Amino acid sequence: MDLSNYIRTINDFPKPGIVFKDITPLLNSPEATSACLEQLLELLGDRKIDKVVGIESRGFFFATLLAHKLQAGFIPIRKPGKLPHKIIRRSYALEYGDDHIEMHEDAIEKGDLILLHDDVLATGGTAKAACELIEHLGGVIVQCNFLMELEFLNGRDKIAGYDVQSVLKF
Ligand code: IMP
Repeated sequence: MDLSNYIRTINDFPKPGIVFKDITPLLNSPEATSACLEQLLELLGDRKIDKVVGIESRGFFFATLLAHKLQAGFIPIRKPGKLPHKIIRRSYALEYGDDHIEMHEDAIEKGDLILLHDDVLATGGTAKAACELIEHLGGVIVQCNFLMELEFLNGRDKIAGYDVQSVLKF
């Protein structure tokens, strides 16, 4: 099954000049969702994972499916002000200004084997900040996987030390 048929390209969303990859057609197909989950699991192989970390919000869809399949815990990384308990935070640079992500400080135990998942790897800023949060709490990143990678933005250079995998490349 060619999963790229289930990704819709929207020009000028959310701002003029941005070419947005929309995964909602894929999520709306149980066959494509199953095939995508299997491909993500294949990319991981038989490595042990204690916890899957998903990045708000589109990263949550497959991160929770992966966690369930792997019988691992699920940990959300969220935008500021959403998590109710004690948090740690990282800032990262955007084209204009900066942004922040947060994680509960008790979500990871030292030595936990972590799979990081998000829907899209673009510039890599979000994934890099997520890796820093995970490692700050003592997590060991086994793989960073993505539904798709926008190769022209060279995001994997920012997380070059890790095993970086994606199902689709554009
Ligand atoms: P980065 O930090 O530049 O790598 O951007 C990655 C984050 O932005 C991810 O959390 C994505 O959900 C989101 N993102 C960037 N581009 C797209 C896109 O084309 N479609 C959907 N999400 C995107």
